[in-house]
Amino acid sequence: MTGVTTPADDTTTRPDPGLCRDCQHARRIESDRGSIFFMCELSFEDSRFAKYPRLPVLVCSGYRPK
Ligand code: SF4
Repeated sequence: MTGVTTPADDTTTRPDPGLCRDCQHARRIESDRGSIFFMCELSFEDSRFAKYPRLPVLVCSGYRPK
């Protein structure tokens, strides 16, 4: 083992979150098993947004870059 992670390996455990990656409303959550989720905190106040959006999010009216 070299400890080197290729981009292809990284994609299997860390899917591209799209806009959620740097959105002010996103909270990144990592499970005990290493799965990555993005929770949309805008969903708490606006029902148009899913609590756990399907990734990658490519278009989003709530997107606010950090
Ligand atoms: S507002 Fe859109 S881009 Fe931002 S966290 Fe929610 S779903 Fe992702």
